[in-house]
Amino acid sequence: MDKNFISDQKQKLERQQEYLIKKIDELEKIPDFGNSQDDNAQEVAEANNNLSLERDLKKELKEINKVLRRVDEGSYDKCLSCGGTIEKKRLELVPTAVNCADCQTKLRK
Ligand SMILES: [Zn+2]
Repeated sequence: MDKNFISDQKQKLERQQEYLIKKIDELEKIPDFGNSQDDNAQEVAEANNNLSLERDLKKELKEINKVLRRVDEGSYDKCLSCGGTIEKKRLELVPTAVNCADCQTKLRK
């Protein structure tokens, strides 16, 4: 696969990685809820929302880190399931794809 394409993808992934780190950082900085009885329920709900959002973001970040490691190892376009090549079009659409389209379809079943 051509190097330009891979370095483009790497840039995309790194930008996303940066964004996620910043977001997670912001979420972690949100202070604990105050003592006021009135808005506690709302704050608890909000805190729960943030918690699940943070969990999702961390999961995504982990995935991106994994894919970036694959880029460095030169196995970015190698399918994890069959060892074949992941289609360029698919990687363009899903930069974090680790399986080729065929394997992904099989995995979904
Ligand atoms: Zn495959």
